[in-house]
Amino acid sequence: EVDWFSLASILFLLMFAPLIVYYFIMSCDQYQCSLTDPLLDLLTGNKHLSDIWNRTPTLTYRAAGIYSLWVTFQVVLYMSIPDFCHKFLPGYVGGVQEGAVTPAGVVNKYEINGLQAWIITHVLWFANAYCFHFFSPTIIFDNWIPLLWCANILGYAVSTFAMIKGYFFPTNAKDCKFTGNFFYDYMMGIEFNPRIGKWFDFKLFFNGRPGIVAWTLINLSFAAKQQELYGEVTNSMILVNVLQGIYVLDFFWNEAWYLKTIDICHDHFGWYLGWGDCVWLPYLYTLQGLYLVYHPVQLCTAHAIGVFMLGLLGYFIFRMTNHQKDLFRRTNGNCRIWGKKPEYIECSYVSVDGTKYYSKLMTSGFWGWARHFNYTGDLMGSLAYCLACGFEHILPYFYIIYMSILLIHRCIRDEHRCHSKYGKDWKRYTAAVPYRLLPGIF
Ligand code: NDP
Repeated sequence: EVDWFSLASILFLLMFAPLIVYYFIMSCDQYQCSLTDPLLDLLTGNKHLSDIWNRTPTLTYRAAGIYSLWVTFQVVLYMSIPDFCHKFLPGYVGGVQEGAVTPAGVVNKYEINGLQAWIITHVLWFANAYCFHFFSPTIIFDNWIPLLWCANILGYAVSTFAMIKGYFFPTNAKDCKFTGNFFYDYMMGIEFNPRIGKWFDFKLFFNGRPGIVAWTLINLSFAAKQQELYGEVTNSMILVNVLQGIYVLDFFWNEAWYLKTIDICHDHFGWYLGWGDCVWLPYLYTLQGLYLVYHPVQLCTAHAIGVFMLGLLGYFIFRMTNHQKDLFRRTNGNCRIWGKKPEYIECSYVSVDGTKYYSKLMTSGFWGWARHFNYTGDLMGSLAYCLACGFEHILPYFYIIYMSILLIHRCIRDEHRCHSKYGKDWKRYTAAVPYRLLPGIF
């Protein structure tokens, strides 16, 4: 059942999320990244909405061509080149891997080749920038708003297609969720794992590519634009490129692990993931780099080192916490965490068909400090990207505000689910690990 609060939030997001993205990108394009000036102009009657709209670049054939080529290229890399990285990179898990058991009891197979797609794409990018010169590395920045329209078209098209597919030709009818509320179903999705054919998995493709592969290219394009405009790339831009580059590379290095995260294990595929991956992620996660094109901040050494250390520490906590849970679950607790046998709470749950299952919730390592210390590390890293942009404008800080809302909401959502799943065992767990994100505080 969809309660009124969820429905109101969904309607709000469906109506306003595209406007929020437009507002941010437009304020950089027309107002040097000031978030207040456009509003002031409108409120004082200095400008009308039509003035702002008329100055906004429209969809162009060039952008449509670039975007179509980009998405097609990523589809080809995803579908046509089986992974070879796992054959020579020690410790990397790629190739055909199994996902988690779906509520209907299906175990999907995935071709994990994201790292390879990322490497090929970036090698070609640098080969073009330094040798072939087919196009300028500033191409993404130069077409940023026309590309936004293309990303929106794809985002809406794929979400609408996923909805129709859920009704008429689902990949697995037993893994569909119908609430009876059109808006909820459109936003949160009907099908759990929509696929075309055996291998084209919507969730894996849209979550990782084209958005996350593009993330580092977008940052490189912003750095190239700084170089073109000011004759140098600032240390803040390098910091943003390096720290976000580590995060993206980590994502692809751990793509197989990602099959066990909430996005893939619990969320259905609708507008939230489809549009979010096509538009929200590439446009709003890259705001720091965009801001630095308009405001080339050169940080003093102490500030730059502080940001770098915070970013690395956040990344370390994020990765180690996720790794500890992964290791614990993979070995069923037969492993060592910080040199000791892990402590845990035995718990059980009953599936829809009445079968009883057993599971374990770890209470030592980072999982003994807080119930979602992985989110804490992620937030520390996110704050570092923002701090790299100095303190003059609020726009680059959108990311940490958004990530805090996203991860706190996700934490509450996940705990609600775990509480329904494990019942009294979950209560024993929360008594043993009382804090969510920050030990002693929250
Ligand atoms: P988690 O990896 O924290 O997974 C939560 C699940 O883990 C729970 O539902 C439960 O599943 C299991 N679990 C919870 N507590 C324990 C425990 N103590 N011991 C063992 N298992 C436990 O969440 P996510 O999948 O959301 O996040 C994965 C990573 O992705 C995070 O680091 C997050 O920061 C990052 N992320 C980044 C985003 C971005 O936009 N940059 C967006 C979303 C996530 P079960 O039912 O199996 O018990």
